[in-house]
Amino acid sequence: ACFARIDAFDGDVRAFVSLDREGALATAREVDEARTRGADLHPLAGVPIAVKDNMVTRGQDTTCCSRILAGWKPPYDATVIRKLKDAKLPIVGKTNMDEFAMGSSTEHSCYGPTHNPWDLDRIPGGSGGGSAAAVSAFFVPLALGSDTGGSIRQPGAVTGTVGVKPTYGAVSRYGLIAMASSLDQIGPVTRTVADAAALQELIGGHDSFDSTSLDEPVPALGQAVEDADLAGLTLGVVKQASGEGFDPEVTRLFAQTVERLREAGATVEEVDCPSFEYALAAYYLIMPAEVSSNLARFDGIRYGARFEPDEGPVTAETVMAATREKGFGDEVKRRLILGTHVLSAGYYDAYYGSAQKVRTLVQRDLDNAFARVDALVLPTSPTTAFKLGERTDDPMAMYMCDIATIPANLAGIPAMSLPVGCSGEDGLPVGFQVMAPARQDATMYRVAAVVE
Ligand code: GLN
Repeated sequence: ACFARIDAFDGDVRAFVSLDREGALATAREVDEARTRGADLHPLAGVPIAVKDNMVTRGQDTTCCSRILAGWKPPYDATVIRKLKDAKLPIVGKTNMDEFAMGSSTEHSCYGPTHNPWDLDRIPGGSGGGSAAAVSAFFVPLALGSDTGGSIRQPGAVTGTVGVKPTYGAVSRYGLIAMASSLDQIGPVTRTVADAAALQELIGGHDSFDSTSLDEPVPALGQAVEDADLAGLTLGVVKQASGEGFDPEVTRLFAQTVERLREAGATVEEVDCPSFEYALAAYYLIMPAEVSSNLARFDGIRYGARFEPDEGPVTAETVMAATREKGFGDEVKRRLILGTHVLSAGYYDAYYGSAQKVRTLVQRDLDNAFARVDALVLPTSPTTAFKLGERTDDPMAMYMCDIATIPANLAGIPAMSLPVGCSGEDGLPVGFQVMAPARQDATMYRVAAVVE
């Protein structure tokens, strides 16, 4: 049924960049047989899933939607993929994304853009627009995304899906092609909060292959959803996440939801996070610095595509230069140049050093907030889905999409977006965001289950 729907509509949506019909159907058949035998199966066995194209899948294309990885077949599975395979979820295919997860619209992909199923002329968010669109279009009930600055949550908000960035370290990054390692985190994209909890329980847990992986048991997230109740909980409304830049309809639906939570028994307080104002600027220094280091490995020598120079001698240096020149797109190059610059001698302290200090201030703001409240609530994206092409020539306008999502990555805390209705202006979905202290993912799910 999934493939029939994909065949009928993905020509318009373009959520997938590769499909694995044979593999997915083989797993589905295996689950059928095991079920007839009465075998003990994982509760999600047989549930089809889509995976963002920056998680390595053994023997299957994994491109990060970049020409530089064209034709590369990974020799191993990411830890999350291994867990999906062990639990027998059919992996339907790999989804479209901004190249190397850099963007907020899925327009910076070498395969061309994904279209928002709600309005095909609009963006599905990014960088994980493919995973969000695949769930939103009912191609698959589950998908995986990665969130460095909002790439699971902002696509979730603009496509009316649930998107979760777990606590940093809660899900192994082994086999996730790194963008900015201190910020990257894999998480679920689903239609309901309970589905997200089930998927996070499956993919979470300690992994000795990821040195930043938390060595503690996976929290009972499904239980938190079932027990959802706000009695005794205090929620903080972030003062900085409103006003200029936020659509009036986004603000209206946000306020309406907060009111609902108050009626459901939560105590609501306003919380001041003065450093949030500088979070975006700090992110756009720290992230490119890490990008420039992580992407140094794509050189045309070790793996992936190799391009030779158009003229002159063919040496290791000229092959590396030609490969990076032809293999990377403009947005990736912009960040490589920025990142190399901010790390260079003479500029390091002024840019990278200052940004790291701001990161500490953001963490302190959040520590202070969480000393008073159990969870924070704020809009996910300041606007609904904009038109394709509207911001492609204006990087600053594109970066503004991340204003409310970035603080959670800088602080490593869990955050999720879930739909709370449609804008009265354009009829497009609006997302609501819940953040909790690090390792308190269960509290976040508890609040989200009531919002839903
Ligand atoms: N929009 C952010 C960026 O372009 C999000 C990236 C991400 O979360 N992968 O950097």
